[in-house]
Amino acid sequence: MIWSKEETLSKGDMRSLQNMRLGEIVKRVYYLVPFYKQKFDEAKITPDAIKSVDDLKKLPFTCKKDLRDNYPYGMFAVPMGEIVRIHSSSGTTGKPTVVGYTEADMNIWAEVMARAFTMGGVTSQDIMQNSHGYGLFTGGLGFHAAAEKMKVAVIPSSTGFTSRQLLLLKDFGATALTATPSFALHLAEVAKNEGYDIKKDFKLKVGFFGAEPTSIGMKQEIANVWGIDYHEIYGMSEIIGPGVACNCKYSKLLHFQEDHFYPEIIDPETLEVLPEGERGELVVTTLTKQALPLIRYRTGDITSITKIPCKCGRTTARIESIIGRSDDMLLIGGVNVFPSQIEHVLSTIEGITLHYQIIAKKKGYLDKLEIDIEVDESIMTDDVARLENIKSKVAKALLNNLYINVEVKLIAPKSIERSEGKSVRVIDERKSSEQNRLS
Ligand SMILES: [Zn+2]
Repeated sequence: MIWSKEETLSKGDMRSLQNMRLGEIVKRVYYLVPFYKQKFDEAKITPDAIKSVDDLKKLPFTCKKDLRDNYPYGMFAVPMGEIVRIHSSSGTTGKPTVVGYTEADMNIWAEVMARAFTMGGVTSQDIMQNSHGYGLFTGGLGFHAAAEKMKVAVIPSSTGFTSRQLLLLKDFGATALTATPSFALHLAEVAKNEGYDIKKDFKLKVGFFGAEPTSIGMKQEIANVWGIDYHEIYGMSEIIGPGVACNCKYSKLLHFQEDHFYPEIIDPETLEVLPEGERGELVVTTLTKQALPLIRYRTGDITSITKIPCKCGRTTARIESIIGRSDDMLLIGGVNVFPSQIEHVLSTIEGITLHYQIIAKKKGYLDKLEIDIEVDESIMTDDVARLENIKSKVAKALLNNLYINVEVKLIAPKSIERSEGKSVRVIDERKSSEQNRLS
């Protein structure tokens, strides 16, 4: 089943709709948001110069910093009387990013989420346990509103209280689960410890996950342990929240809701628009949003886009699951490498864990990459032949998949320091040596 007719428009009809909506949104930002008026004037562009999405490249980019500089409401295009909801993302440093929604924006949000749920086969007969955090984070309420719109019974269990969540999951009989991937795995681990028989005690058949970079191995593990179809939902609060893209049953690529959000892929270094199929940074222009319309917003997420039609019947463009952040991109001997690509490879090899550290160095003029990986508890650290075998497997797999030579070091379990927050995955020693030279 397909939720709305916009998902199956012909290429020509989609393009006309996008062009019409872009024309309106460009006028909107120019006349209503002083930040954009100034940007357009500096670039000597008037709204009538933008006749189609092909003209987008004439327009300046918008960055997260612009939202911070105009904190909290400087980028809003409507008076506060029309705003019905405010969310904000927790900035790891400095001020949070604030986003606002009108009633029409709330409807768009529920609409694109309903399209995503429909891709996972969810209907009004389903019961959905929503284990995303309710609050300023867009996950909880974003999923909630769409479930209600589809008349799906939604259980607002939010995060935490794992034992109680499991009790609800069993007794209330949820058939769909939404959570962050890490919480889904945590729930499964606690369920096993508490003696549940996961496939017998629970009725789950589908799950919607997102908000964290997730390796293929982790996705498979979640699907297997819960016995469910895994659907990935992409989004970010600046664009609308979750629901910008989601994969259907037939494709690992995510259908992009391009009638509401126009995607471009750029080279993060040169800022040039890249052709279909090439990997680069995703840039999004919101085509319909009223409260916080954004022109060419640099998401920082690295992906590629394809316009090849999907087996499911939807004609919308599709993106790859996000493979990394442009800020995390490592340039090793001219090859772009993302930590998440390395993790994908590591997750396919037995005998090692996903506790690792990537170290980029300079050896003379050449870039060198070293990876320290903790071996599995089951590996005897004095079994030299076995260790050598694993080492060469990892090096070969990385060479075959990423085209780079990596020096692999296997280290004892628990030797990489664990931190409460995000663990330090990448150490770029080249940067610190450059900084040392400059200072
Ligand atoms: Zn599809």
